[in-house]
Amino acid sequence: MPFSRPTVIRSRRVVLPDGERPADVLIQDGKIARTAPHGSLTAGPGELTDLGDTALLPGLVDTHVHVNEPGRTEWEGFATATRAAAAGGVTTIIDMPLNSIPPTITAAGLGVKRRAAEGQAWVDLGFWGGAVPGNVADLEPLYQEGVFGFKSFLAPSGVDEFPHVGAADLEAALAEQARIGALAIIHAEDPAVLAAAPQQPGVHYRDFLASRPAGAETAAVARLLDAARRTGARVHILHVSSAAVLPLLRQARADGVRVTAETCPHYLTLAAEQVPDGDTAFKCCPPIRDESNRDALWEALANGEFTAVVSDHSPSTPDLKLLPEYGGSGDFAAAWGGIASLQLGLPAVWTEARRRGHTLADVVRWMSEGPARLVGLAGTKGAIAAGHDADLVAFDPEGEFAVRASGLHHRNPVTPYAGRTLTGAVRGTWLRGREVDPAARPFGRQLTRPATRGATAKAAATQATTAP
Ligand SMILES: [Zn+2]
Repeated sequence: MPFSRPTVIRSRRVVLPDGERPADVLIQDGKIARTAPHGSLTAGPGELTDLGDTALLPGLVDTHVHVNEPGRTEWEGFATATRAAAAGGVTTIIDMPLNSIPPTITAAGLGVKRRAAEGQAWVDLGFWGGAVPGNVADLEPLYQEGVFGFKSFLAPSGVDEFPHVGAADLEAALAEQARIGALAIIHAEDPAVLAAAPQQPGVHYRDFLASRPAGAETAAVARLLDAARRTGARVHILHVSSAAVLPLLRQARADGVRVTAETCPHYLTLAAEQVPDGDTAFKCCPPIRDESNRDALWEALANGEFTAVVSDHSPSTPDLKLLPEYGGSGDFAAAWGGIASLQLGLPAVWTEARRRGHTLADVVRWMSEGPARLVGLAGTKGAIAAGHDADLVAFDPEGEFAVRASGLHHRNPVTPYAGRTLTGAVRGTWLRGREVDPAARPFGRQLTRPATRGATAKAAATQATTAP
């Protein structure tokens, strides 16, 4: 479809905040000026793009992406990650603070990242900071520089330069984040439960699964919620894999704890029973669990218990994945834990959502609107509504394609979705009204956190001067 910078986009399936219907969307100066009944607008001297039955969605907001540049750019870099994002219908990513070197745990480290990303972002790009042992004094300066919140690990992260927090570090970090009004995002697995679990290396997925039991998630979440209660911090549980944590979250919310949670496409679309021996493309932490757990995650998603479905795109090189087809051992215990899926999240989730009777509007709520709200970007991203950025995706909900890892824009040709047939194809992506073309110059912007509701007066005043 040859479209570049339309004034009007028309589709019989536009996903609006109140549901899907035929509509025209008027774009001015990179923003959505208004929506109107299908067929009612003219483009004047501009261009009209009629998508027919191809759906028009707001661009996805993926708040959980590990870009890894600088320092581990051979795992994934800004150019490859953001081109993959655009090709997958994702128009905003928020980069995780670890796996790059340096990690984003000081304002200086954030500056290094920002300079590395300059001129290489095909989509809009923001940054999380990290809360690690000993950097409490760095949190407020980082927040003033515009990070969207702070990630902490309760168990080892997998890289030495981003240590996990013990009980005292966690308490101190949460107290400081409550004071400045920041959102604490947490990798919740408990190191003591992990240490006590059976450790049987090898190619059998069930042995790996036994080494990362659901109890590690529930113990960590319980501990986190206690600390959130005491400190008043706003907390978000990253990549919930075990449905057993959901009752804890419900209880905490009923008690007034400000807690949200996300899950990921791989927990919703893959299951332990399907993982072939030695196929370490499926390794992530916490792990993909069994089919009955997957059904329970879908039930919770349908009930609105997850704010967001985001990729946790965390690739590495094929040799660190120890993949047998690259001469590796296929040992789940030793392989890098992380799943590459940035370009595939939308079709993967849609394929399964559709099978379960969900609508495109549901998927948009989970993958665009919810994550935008999580990071305070709901005023500009995540919806087709007047005043929002014209970040849009042409999506063919019936288009089938077979995944070939080598055909993805990801830096490395490794993904657990390889060989699967997915339903739902991205036909075009616009960022602030301009079509994104991976072969042309990038025009993504670096985003800073907008002023946060619930921030302390002091922090709010600081934000007003630092975060435009
Ligand atoms: Zn992650």
